[in-house]
Amino acid sequence: AKKLGKGQFQFYTESLNAEARDRLALDSALRRAVEQEELHVVYQPKVDARGRPFGFEALVRWESAEFGSVSPVRFIPLAEENGLIGQLTVFVLRTACREAARWRAAGHGHLRVAVNISPSLFREKDLAALVRAVLAEAGLPPENLELEITEGVLMGDVQRTLAVLNELKAMGVYIAVDDFGTGYSSLAYLKRFPIDILKVDRSFVLECDQGNGGLAITRAIVSLAHSLNLRVVAEGVEQQTQLAVLNALGCQEFQGYYFARPMPVEQIAAYLAGG
Ligand code: C2E
Ligand code: CA
Ligand code: CA
Ligand code: CA
Repeated sequence: AKKLGKGQFQFYTESLNAEARDRLALDSALRRAVEQEELHVVYQPKVDARGRPFGFEALVRWESAEFGSVSPVRFIPLAEENGLIGQLTVFVLRTACREAARWRAAGHGHLRVAVNISPSLFREKDLAALVRAVLAEAGLPPENLELEITEGVLMGDVQRTLAVLNELKAMGVYIAVDDFGTGYSSLAYLKRFPIDILKVDRSFVLECDQGNGGLAITRAIVSLAHSLNLRVVAEGVEQQTQLAVLNALGCQEFQGYYFARPMPVEQIAAYLAGG
């Protein structure tokens, strides 16, 4: 039994080492990818009740020579830990704003591009100054940019976050709360922070047509948004049955595979032309 115990312990440390080695390799590959701009950005439409696009969410992609295509669910948390998130976000923000400026030039001046902003950026960077500089460089009006933040941002340094968000708001940038309903913060912040949009998390939308808690929560979020004069977007809409429920609840903005998957930049012109 003693021998087995030792063997198990050895196996355990070996697999831990392997895990740590993998992580280290992934970490340095990500560092190279960010530095050499090996990342790219895809865009998922957000549509109105008639299925017409009013904007796109920018989503980062990484095709690694070493690891193949790595999900952002895996590498974004890594970038947050190893300090690469700032550089990564600047890349996505610049790429997305440049792209949105092209949409405008092509006659789609109403389209907004949405960029995900990690909580750590509020601490590490002068986010408002960064956004101002990127918009100027791209020649994009602030009204064409939306920032998606999570509830976690609103739980950090409240004074600082409030100041940054107020500055962005004063510029004309839109602020959306992403994955709404999955965080831990109190609802009081909805009154306090300059928020324009709530995005109903996919986990609730997924169950909104199944007669369980998902419906009740989706209904509550839609009605909360409306009574606070906020816009509300349902994310992860995959089924017609979900869309029917959302319509009945008065939700009029959607994002999800039912309408369109995230697409490479080359496909956007054809998509906008209705093809
Ligand atoms: P998110 O911000 O909630 O983005 C929505 C995710 O849901 C995207 O996954 C999108 O592809 C996926 N999705 C959209 N519609 C559907 C649907 O109908 N069904 C299903 N099953 N999924 C759908 P993705 O691109 O893998 O991104 C995952 C997460 O990674 C994002 O979640 C976001 O938190 C993070 N992320 C992605 N790009 C960036 C970025 O540039 N910066 C930061 N900070 N985070 C990012
Ligand atoms: Ca998002
Ligand atoms: Ca989301
Ligand atoms: Ca999410």
